[in-house]
Order: sequence, then C-alpha cells, then structure tokens
Amino acid sequence: MIDFKKIVRANVLRLTPYSSARDEFQGSDGVFMDANENPYGTLNRYPDPYQKELKQKISEIKGIPARNIFLGNGSDEIIDLCFRVFCNPGTDKVLIFPPTYGMYEVSASVNDVNVIKIPLKEDFQINIENVKNIISDPELKLIFICSPNNPTSNSLNRKDVEWIIKNFNGIVIIDEAYSDFSSKQSFLSLVNDQNNLIVMQTFSKAMGMAAARVGMAFMDPEVLSFFNKIKPPYNISTINQKAALARLDQKEEMASLVRDIIDERERLKNEIARFGFVEKIYPSDANFLLVKVNDANRLYNFLIIRKIIVRNRSSVIENCIRITVGKRNENNELIRNLKEYKPL
Ligand SMILES: *Cc1c(COP(=O)(O)O)cnc(C)c1O
Repeated sequence: MIDFKKIVRANVLRLTPYSSARDEFQGSDGVFMDANENPYGTLNRYPDPYQKELKQKISEIKGIPARNIFLGNGSDEIIDLCFRVFCNPGTDKVLIFPPTYGMYEVSASVNDVNVIKIPLKEDFQINIENVKNIISDPELKLIFICSPNNPTSNSLNRKDVEWIIKNFNGIVIIDEAYSDFSSKQSFLSLVNDQNNLIVMQTFSKAMGMAAARVGMAFMDPEVLSFFNKIKPPYNISTINQKAALARLDQKEEMASLVRDIIDERERLKNEIARFGFVEKIYPSDANFLLVKVNDANRLYNFLIIRKIIVRNRSSVIENCIRITVGKRNENNELIRNLKEYKPL
C-alpha cells in the first residue's frame, strides 16, 4: 500500500479547491439564486460537478462503488490530471512502453515531465528485465500501460502487469480503452486491493460515444479525492452526462454492436490476409488491425486517393498501417479497393 502524501505534488496537497455554488448546496429542488445562472432556458443550469447520477449507473453496470469512479472530459483529460496530481514539472519522470498511445507523451511534454521509454519486445510484450532496472527510481511517478495496446492491438501479459503493480511505489495507469473488444479479463477487479492502480476506460470506442467526450477512471477513493481537488469544476457538460446515461440504457444493443465489430474484424482479417502485399496481420484484441505490408506509404497514398482513410503507422512500426474495423459495407469497400491495388 502506498502513502500518497509521499507521491502527490506538494502544491496539490496544500491547495484549497475552488468551491462552486453547486458544491455548497446539493439537491435539485429549490429556488436557485446562488450561481449567477440565467433563470430562463433549458441548458441554463451548471452541470453536476461530480456526475452523481451517471456514476451511480456506471457503478451498477461495472460492479464497483461510485466512490471509486472518476469521470473526465475524455480519457485525455484524465491522463493530463494524472500528471498534474503526481508529477513535478522539470524533475519527475513517467514510464511508457512504445509503440503506444501518443497522448501519454504529449501530456508529459505539456506538463514538462520526463518520459522514459522501454520499447515493447518483438512480440509487443513488456520487457520486464528492463523495467526492473528503473522501477525504484524515486523520481519515477507514473507508469502507463495500454492493454489492449494501441497501435499494436494485442493485450499485454497479465503476469507482467501484475508484477509492475506490486513492485512499483508510484501510480500504475492501465488504459483499457479497447477492453470490450477483448476476451481477456479486465484489471478492474484489482482496484479494490491495489491503491496505486488506476484503470481507465472510455465511452469513445465500444460504447460509440466519442463525440460526447466521457472518460472513466477507477481508483482508490483517496487518490480520487486529489483528482476532484484539481479538476475543472464542471468538466463534463450536462448534455454529455445525459447522452452517456442514455447510452447505458442500451446495454443489449451495445453488446450486439461489439459482437458485430468483432465478427467483422475476423472477416476483414481473413480477407486481407489473402493479398500478396500483406506480410503480417498482428493478433487483435481491439477494434482495429495492425497490418504489415510491403510498402505502407504507397498503399496509404493509394487508399487516400480513393477516399479510404487508414492510419499510416510506418513511422513507429516499419511498413505498418492501422485499419479501424468499419461497418460491413465499409469493410467491403476497403477490400474491393485493395483488390485493385498494384504493389511495386
Ligand atoms: C481512443 C483511445 C482512448 C480514448 O480517449 P478519449 O479521450 O476517452 O476519447 C484512450 N486510450 C487509448 C489508448 C485510445 O486509443
């Protein structure tokens, strides 16, 4: 168990948070003359700063108490808050395992925090021997683990991740943006026993709500109190809270869409594997495929001209493109065009 007083930034420990009108009086009945809102209209009131109704619903669905749930304006806000709670600019460090999600490093740069990189091994798994060399560095505050990982599409070995959680005296953030597409078990159940663990999930992928910008983080209530202390008071709009709530009422529809996407992923994989210019399709636990081809730039440009937009990842993994699984007809459109592609 970690003593947070030792790793939370001193200014965060000290600071008195902004107290909003909605912090002081809670309840929805009454004559509200406390927040300088306009009394007219339908979107005239400030949102619930702690998103209680939404958290309650997420709590029931995920089987984790609401006091363990933090919501952000997308996972991207939560990533940034991790830096601002724990990392002193200029001196502290975080560890990432590239190739991985770009926001960890961008957020580190914005916050002037040093990034240590331990590249994933050939099989895109964590190089634990190299982690052992630096895990005791007192300036290392955060370790970001993305599983299933973007852009490599695989899940990371559970025993490696558990070893890191147990042996690190800082915060481990496991980004599970794609876990609904994976058959592997989530790390959510560990949040109760491991107070240095933050598990992130999002409304943006399997739940189909990227436009609403709602990210979830599950963590120890004491850690969560620091996030609440520094977050912008009204970080999720009423419109977006309502949209997320409505989405959670469509559980069956959502599950069936996820199954369709997984089926299409497997179909797309089999179809793409037949092309001579495809050298490898990596095993995917996500809603996208990482595909190694003989000439990624050429293929990317060919598809762009035909208004099919994939992600060229050849700058991070040689000759690889990342293809998000689309609707059936979109996948067919991709396949049809690939049949007309003439590699060099
Ligand atoms: C897409 C994605 C997210 C989602 O970010 P939001 O800000 O919640 O939309 C988070 N992590 C990874 C690795 C992703 O690929």
